[in-house]
Amino acid sequence: MSNLIEKFDLTGRADLPALALRSDSENQITYGALGARAADLAGVLVQRGLCAGDRVVVKVEKSVVNLALYIACLQRGVIYVPLNTGYRAQEVEYFLRDTGARLVVCDPDDVAVISPVTDDISAEVLTLDRNGAGSLPDAISEPCFEIYPTADDEVASILYTSGTTGKPKGAMLTHGNLISNASALADLWQVRDRDVMLHMLPIFHAHGLFVGCNVMLMAGAQMLFESRFDLDGANALLPHATVMMGIPTFYTRMLSDDRLDRSLVAGMRLFTCGSAPLLAETHIAWTERTGCAILERYGMTETGMITSNPYDGERRPGSVGPALPGVAVRITRSGSDEVLQQGEIGMVEVKGPNVFKGYWRLPEKTAAEFHPDGWFITGDLGSLSEDGYLQIVGRGKDLVISGGYNVYPKEVETEIDALDGVVESAVIGLSHADFGEAVTAVVVAEPGSAIDEQGVQAALRDRLAAFKLPKKVIFLDALPRNTMGKVQKAQLRSEYSGLYTA
Ligand code: AMP
Repeated sequence: MSNLIEKFDLTGRADLPALALRSDSENQITYGALGARAADLAGVLVQRGLCAGDRVVVKVEKSVVNLALYIACLQRGVIYVPLNTGYRAQEVEYFLRDTGARLVVCDPDDVAVISPVTDDISAEVLTLDRNGAGSLPDAISEPCFEIYPTADDEVASILYTSGTTGKPKGAMLTHGNLISNASALADLWQVRDRDVMLHMLPIFHAHGLFVGCNVMLMAGAQMLFESRFDLDGANALLPHATVMMGIPTFYTRMLSDDRLDRSLVAGMRLFTCGSAPLLAETHIAWTERTGCAILERYGMTETGMITSNPYDGERRPGSVGPALPGVAVRITRSGSDEVLQQGEIGMVEVKGPNVFKGYWRLPEKTAAEFHPDGWFITGDLGSLSEDGYLQIVGRGKDLVISGGYNVYPKEVETEIDALDGVVESAVIGLSHADFGEAVTAVVVAEPGSAIDEQGVQAALRDRLAAFKLPKKVIFLDALPRNTMGKVQKAQLRSEYSGLYTA
């Protein structure tokens, strides 16, 4: 039995720096100070009568107080439910009702829209603005230092998955899940208390909160805690950091800037990347420019991290690396539990202490995504190499079935991306009277490039079977992406749904 907060050892490390902030007058916050802030907020939770297992829904900007609130919730066994700050009123209403929140912490600007719902479900609302002020900090009176003795399978946090179809589902992550995953990553990536991480990710998502904060706090390291990614900030702070965790967009943006060179990253020992596929060419370009090979890893909200390229050893472009120690990965024929051979593409499945407890109040949906013997069906398609490196080929839902043949979008995208004048592409299936679905390419061309639809189709003709060729090619200035850098294929599919049927 242990509570994740014990692993942060806030008291034992009282004098070590935990967070450095450019935007805060205090500038540097020690583990001790972070623990004191968490204890203040834990006091508010206790005073409000919140008990272990109660839900606190949090929709506020990234700030030290927000992080301290997360720690306070862990400390009291209260379930922390962070929401994407971009959610609109109707979406928030769904999350509030679904969680049955006891307390909602939101930006002062959101109170008016949220109150009718919180009144209805008898939840209290406290506010916290981006500077860390509001009725939440105002409510602080008596600190509470007592740590609730959580069991490993008690829920620490519920994170709603983006859900490309249907309503978002709340993934329940336990203290045991979070402890096992963060300690595996801290070991594998050799994170030490002398490390300084440039933290520019949001903390409402598993990447920034569980991979970023949990790993760093568990290792006693420091975070340069920035509200968001921006190029100038990254360039100013990289010389003071040793580790950066990013999404592919961070790396492509930094590569587009002349300031990125070996001297800028001279003090860095680790760049990690995940949440969306990193193009092999970005990986290679980064290594050429900086001399550092990006360490790509793969995971999802429901499972935490599943695989990681090695710290010592080959970081293979286009691969997400072998399974983490203690985690098992297999590839099965979609829709069955038949395990496939090395090299064959199928459904990625995972088993281990990192795998979540289930979807909040959705036992049937949970059961549908597990085999009876405990393997979780990730929904991602991939293959394993002979030496156990996983390659992700795309989401199962992205698979295009055209004229009865399976087309893996990634394969077509890789060919298109390699063409001169192409920046990137997304391949989707659109409803088609003859083919069922028609392979359709959405392409971002380099400015001034002469590439056009016929050019793309002609270039692919010799390289791909006819059924994989895009029937149409759409050109856009940029692909739609969410805050985690994932291309929003569902949005593209709905926008162009009538392309072949209209
Ligand atoms: P989320 O639950 O928002 O973290 O999204 C998880 C999904 O992101 C996975 O199921 C994958 O489809 C995708 N993903 C995460 N990391 C990678 C990666 N390194 N390469 C490719 N896809 C990734």
